Amino acid sequence: MKTWRNVLLLLAVLVSVNIVAKPKIRIIATGGTIAGVSASSTSSAYTAGQVGVQTLIDAVPQMLYLADISGEQLVNIGSQDMNDQVWLKLSKRINELLNKEGYDGVVITHGTDTMEETAYFLNLTVKSNKPVILVGSMRSSTAISADGPGNLYAGVAAAASPNTKGRGVLCCMNNRLIYAKDVIKVHTTDVATFEAANAGPVGYVYNGEAHYFTKPEALHTTQSEFDVTNLEKLPQVGIVYGYANCSPLPFQAFVDAKFDGVVLAGVGDGNFYHEVFDVAVKARQKGINVVRSSRCPTGPTCLNGEVDDEKYEFVAALDQNPQKARVLLMLALTKTRDWKQIQEYFKKY
Ligand code: ASP
Repeated sequence: MKTWRNVLLLLAVLVSVNIVAKPKIRIIATGGTIAGVSASSTSSAYTAGQVGVQTLIDAVPQMLYLADISGEQLVNIGSQDMNDQVWLKLSKRINELLNKEGYDGVVITHGTDTMEETAYFLNLTVKSNKPVILVGSMRSSTAISADGPGNLYAGVAAAASPNTKGRGVLCCMNNRLIYAKDVIKVHTTDVATFEAANAGPVGYVYNGEAHYFTKPEALHTTQSEFDVTNLEKLPQVGIVYGYANCSPLPFQAFVDAKFDGVVLAGVGDGNFYHEVFDVAVKARQKGINVVRSSRCPTGPTCLNGEVDDEKYEFVAALDQNPQKARVLLMLALTKTRDWKQIQEYFKKY
């Protein structure tokens, strides 16, 4: 026991004096509140995506003990403005960094609003088992007790940890590590906003090291059959929200605009208001794929529950919330329009 501790201590000393190479970690900045600036440190009003990547790196010199750090700015936006073009660019860039440019891991700074969608998109399209970690913050860089620097430090620690390898893409916020498939934003303003409602967090960062409790069950990264290398755009998929006395107009608008697929954020177990249901049945007859998910924050949307999916050729989103079901449906539609095949993807990923 003591011998091991001495070996580890020696290793830490060698790393700190640069005798053993530190992992080469690239930080890709995309904006968000972590790069946000406010006129006053106490105001809740701020503008996301203002500060550049080097400023973010300079604010956390402690990371340099953990890894050989460099950065690049991909975009500088609030993640409410995230889009397919940025996702494609980001995924392709990560694949270059990890597979061609010799980086050992990537940390992405990202707004929290759509972080879960970006994380899941990357989980299905990055072709490497090296660590890919998303971090953000809920308080802007100029706020009292800004959470960005601590989250960035923990994210780099996770990316630099050898035991992060092979786990797919993770989000690291508030020292918690959550798999891309499970992570959801649950609070509009709290720093503890990320959870995995059905699964729970899978690990944590403590003293600059990542610790894990579980391995991912769903397929990801190198096991994924989706490949965006040669894609310039993605299929068009919209989301329709369900509620009492629901209007069929939004669903009909997606059908009229010839979207490739529609995800229902249904009530309960992915149920439709009857007028919306009629539009969904007609959409299927036109070849538009329909995935049923739920506006409930927890629990699966079950196949062939109250809705007879087999009969209408709908797909049940199972564990996926509507926004992540949309990501998977977009990628599924790059391969097939066969609803049975798409249902299989929902079981696997
Ligand atoms: N609107 C911001 C964003 O997603 C919120 C945040 O980063 O916390 O970019």
